[in-house]
Amino acid sequence: MHTIGRFAPSPSGRMHLGNVLCALLAWLSARQQNGEFLLRIEDLDEMRCPRSFADLIIDDLRWLGLDWDGEIPYQSERTAVYEKYEAILREKGLLYPCFCSRAALHAASAPHLSDGRVVYAGTCRDLTPEQVAEKRRKRAPATRVRVPERTITFTDGVYGEYTETLTEECGDFIIRRSDGVFAYQLAVVVDDGLSGVTEVVRGHDLHRQYAAPDLAV
Ligand SMILES: [Zn+2]
Repeated sequence: MHTIGRFAPSPSGRMHLGNVLCALLAWLSARQQNGEFLLRIEDLDEMRCPRSFADLIIDDLRWLGLDWDGEIPYQSERTAVYEKYEAILREKGLLYPCFCSRAALHAASAPHLSDGRVVYAGTCRDLTPEQVAEKRRKRAPATRVRVPERTITFTDGVYGEYTETLTEECGDFIIRRSDGVFAYQLAVVVDDGLSGVTEVVRGHDLHRQYAAPDLAV
């Protein structure tokens, strides 16, 4: 299999050592397999991710000698692409509006266990069209995806088999915030899929089964 790795920072500030380590490992892994290495700027939240920070990250990577292949996509410029996939999910009946406050905004960022992320209780899952119309008069909803009762398993290159039951450990998640900004969860999957990414290197703090002991320290 032809390896395609990537580094996809959110430019909400300068890179810290954790970002650099992640970029280095992702680059080393792809390059040692004679694979491609892509760079993508995850600036969905343009208020938090000004272009000046993205420019600094790009400069830092160049200085470090970590090169990439092809153009750099900026997620803030790809709304039309995400809307296309949102429409596909909607046609399949997998989306519903969620009027719950606050949590909606937090859920649009990359998932970190330290955020105290909770499984959505399904409060807005089965609202009637009348209830939706009534609530829409008061606030704009976020958009959630209805996860099936399925168990997903994949093999992590370091930790081995990883299994998650979607309804119990993930829950219905937000793909678009109430302010219209697409969530990481949709954008990343669409972008990785479209660019054929075969390998994702992340910090193990994002790996649920292994993150818990760290939180206790
Ligand atoms: Zn809700």
